[in-house]
Amino acid sequence: MLTDSHCHLSNEYYEDIELIINNALENKVNRYITSGYDQKSNEEIVVITNRYDNLYGTLGIHPHSALDYNESWLEYIKKKLDHKNIIAVGEIGLDYYYGKETKDEQKVLFHKMLKLAEERKKAVVIHSRDATEDTINILKEYNLKGVIHSFSGSYETAQIYIKMGYILGINGTVTFKNSKLIDVLKRLDLENIILETDCPYLTPEPNRGKKNEPKNILDIAKYLSKELKIPIEEIALQTEKNIQRTFDI
Ligand SMILES: [Zn+2]
Repeated sequence: MLTDSHCHLSNEYYEDIELIINNALENKVNRYITSGYDQKSNEEIVVITNRYDNLYGTLGIHPHSALDYNESWLEYIKKKLDHKNIIAVGEIGLDYYYGKETKDEQKVLFHKMLKLAEERKKAVVIHSRDATEDTINILKEYNLKGVIHSFSGSYETAQIYIKMGYILGINGTVTFKNSKLIDVLKRLDLENIILETDCPYLTPEPNRGKKNEPKNILDIAKYLSKELKIPIEEIALQTEKNIQRTFDI
């Protein structure tokens, strides 16, 4: 059995979520952690996690919204953090690739979200793009656990996050021809990674270019099994343990 540790199962992307879940079950992907990024997606997550036992949610405000979020969004998250199957604060973080000009606002928002996670003893789901140094320095100020989602950094960066107690979320980009991530993973212990699709984006090979779904976790696991020369059962078993350790599920 496998878990998609980071997906976006929202009606914005999928007409029929029931169908998407059935597709995933056929590939033995039986748990899903769907991540919020703004008020609308957070509200949707609170509704949908009520409907399925194997569907978990995280509530967050993405750095893309650093300029236009409203304090009421934060109040909503605070109110719903202990709702059924809500397991973490996220996705939250810093994105200097798309938001170079909002660095300061992003940092303010990131601190607010991390403080909230610390107060409520929740794990965090971190988005960090072209912002490794600031992300590390800010996370060092808090006593948290969680995932560095869509990790694609160097071995040295991986080591820093791991020493700080974070797990690395590995998605379909690892299967892309131009990615060097697999060479980093060859040097890491399996204890340090969990698998995610980040669907609807980042479809792994051999279906790159199509819309992504949680079922494709199996393609990522197969690729890792082949490249790391570890049986797929062992990858499933260890990554499930890692998810348990990170999110207590
Ligand atoms: Zn995401």
